[in-house]
Amino acid sequence: MIKIKSKWIKIVLLVLVVAAAAAAKPFYDGYSEYRKNAVPVLEYHSVGGSDEWPAEVIIKTEAFEKQLQYLHNNGYRMLSMEQMIDGFKNGKDMGKAVVLTFDDGYMDNYTNVFPLLKKYNANASFFIVQSKIGKPNYMGHNEITELIRAGNDLASHTINHNILTDIDPKYFAWELSSSKFFLKKEFDMYYVHLLSYPNGKYDEKVIAAAQKYGYNYAVTGKNGAVDKNWVENHPMEIGRVIIKGDMMESEFESKLERSYLLGYLKSVVFGSLFFY
Ligand SMILES: [Zn+2]
Repeated sequence: MIKIKSKWIKIVLLVLVVAAAAAAKPFYDGYSEYRKNAVPVLEYHSVGGSDEWPAEVIIKTEAFEKQLQYLHNNGYRMLSMEQMIDGFKNGKDMGKAVVLTFDDGYMDNYTNVFPLLKKYNANASFFIVQSKIGKPNYMGHNEITELIRAGNDLASHTINHNILTDIDPKYFAWELSSSKFFLKKEFDMYYVHLLSYPNGKYDEKVIAAAQKYGYNYAVTGKNGAVDKNWVENHPMEIGRVIIKGDMMESEFESKLERSYLLGYLKSVVFGSLFFY
């Protein structure tokens, strides 16, 4: 330990400590205020599908139910994207809430997830790959229709799940506009305006195309809870917490916690530009 002899150094140190404490207070106050109205959006794929699928896309049904139990026991409402968007639009106090999203349209979303959603009074958004509808392991017309009738969202995950940043922009019309058109038509929807970028990959060109073809909101794979401000100002970059199959329960909880902090740093402290 260095012995500080100079009185002035001591005074400077004291001033620094006081300044740090003074800065921490508004940060903490701002953060607790932010937390009250921020919503983490959770990203799932298959629930209880084949063990041979990679941990990135599959979680066991029991583990999934434990997460719903955790959310339920801790007073979280479990919403769909549309419910969250409506809540923010209407200026409602969101309270403690998460959004549940499922990508790719696996059949187990119907067989394993749907009964649990009903059990825990939860809603979710289902991002469907249009060309996979009715294929082995994927939901067909009837399953998807039931999910929608129960108040869940039908959303687009393109036609072929091609990575939008890698393909020639001439295919954007097909992947984005046609997927929306086919989903609307097949499921007799008034509108389909939610998009999930395949593999979470997007750039400015992709965002511009998605907006041109009528998507109002899009989800990514970048962690960070969202609040009303974020959804209004960055509707095409709604971050999500990716839930992986090999995650321990404690990891689920800490990822959820981290999501608030990341969302706060992103939207309030640094501004979004920092993260691009
Ligand atoms: Zn996907």
